[in-house]
Amino acid sequence: MLKTAKALITSAGKQLGLSSATIEQLLEINKEHQFEITLPDGKRFPAYRVQHNNKRGPYKGGIRFHPEVDFDEVRALAILMTMKTAALDLPLGGAKGGVVVNPRELNDAALEQISREYVRFLKDHIGPHQDIPAPDVNTNPAIIDWMVDEYSVLTGDTTRASFTGKSVARGGSLGRDAATGRGGVFALNDLLKDQGINDKPLTYALQGFGNVGSFFALVAKSDHPNWQLVAASDSATAVYNPKGLDAKTLADFKNGGGRFVDFDQKEQQISNDDLIGLDVDVLVLAALGDAVTERNADQVRAKYIIELANGPVNDAAFTTLNKRGVIILPDIIANAGGVVVSYLEWVQNTKNERWSEARVNSELKRYMTRAMRDLLQLSKSKQTSLTEAAFMLAIKHLLDVA
Ligand code: GLU
Repeated sequence: MLKTAKALITSAGKQLGLSSATIEQLLEINKEHQFEITLPDGKRFPAYRVQHNNKRGPYKGGIRFHPEVDFDEVRALAILMTMKTAALDLPLGGAKGGVVVNPRELNDAALEQISREYVRFLKDHIGPHQDIPAPDVNTNPAIIDWMVDEYSVLTGDTTRASFTGKSVARGGSLGRDAATGRGGVFALNDLLKDQGINDKPLTYALQGFGNVGSFFALVAKSDHPNWQLVAASDSATAVYNPKGLDAKTLADFKNGGGRFVDFDQKEQQISNDDLIGLDVDVLVLAALGDAVTERNADQVRAKYIIELANGPVNDAAFTTLNKRGVIILPDIIANAGGVVVSYLEWVQNTKNERWSEARVNSELKRYMTRAMRDLLQLSKSKQTSLTEAAFMLAIKHLLDVA
């Protein structure tokens, strides 16, 4: 993923006529923190926070808890955050954190200890005007609430603007939980509108029916009933029904702790690989990075891919798919809804305000629509893919060039 992120920035920088020295500067990471969290029972968990760039404002980006987190991946994700906040024109920089842990193997007490320890290690390097972490893969408002609490105890900060993605009761924003999925629906709609097909009947397959994917499907169901969900997967398996799946039924099943392998309906069970190769209009990638690589890029039959995960299409797959004319809506814009509403949460915290969900959603739409308009224009004027155009847009904002 790091290789892919660097390659995209380098190619976008070259197309903008930047010198290699300027491109190098864009890739430079400001600060890296690497430490180990030890629980009282002696279990140890490597942990990271990478602060890539704060030229536009405080560092911003989530913290993931996953057994496969590694330093280079966190670096790549931090770089992508800088590109994302810049593409959306938010006054924020980019960072990312991670802990090598499988939260499913731990009880709440252990997770709370890890969350609080994480903050104790980083307390001098984070804060409302320094670095504002948020949830990411396998982290949620409960974890963020522990972190904010720890930060407040350690520093006396009462604004709670030190983290975003808190529970609403602890200063979180209404609409934050659905924001990444909702932003993805806005972005895809703008793309399909540009193609003249957003009101036509379309089918889509969704890899990763977690927080982001499920909200995408729920919002799509209410805003665009003509987009039909035909397949959805979790980390183990996928369910498929060419006649359509109901997002609400699937969300209720998953929220009840279900696994698709046990989904007791008429739907066919297929593998995650089969899902990638389904004959659908849109492939929604909302699981993890590197989901489509040189290994399976040839299987993709969808005309459109929307990257709701970070870095789900690697460099080699991007080249193959781009050549074939598959249109990829890139992560740094497609999944930016989360960080946009994180920013709105931070604004509410710093002003001590509470906005209605309707206000949050309409602000989110404004940010997404503007970014999509600029993206589509740039991709047309430079005759380049949306992915390259998104990185060009971000770099233009970062360097403040027209
Ligand atoms: N983890 C989310 C992302 O990758 C949100 C980050 C944030 O809200 O700071 O964009």
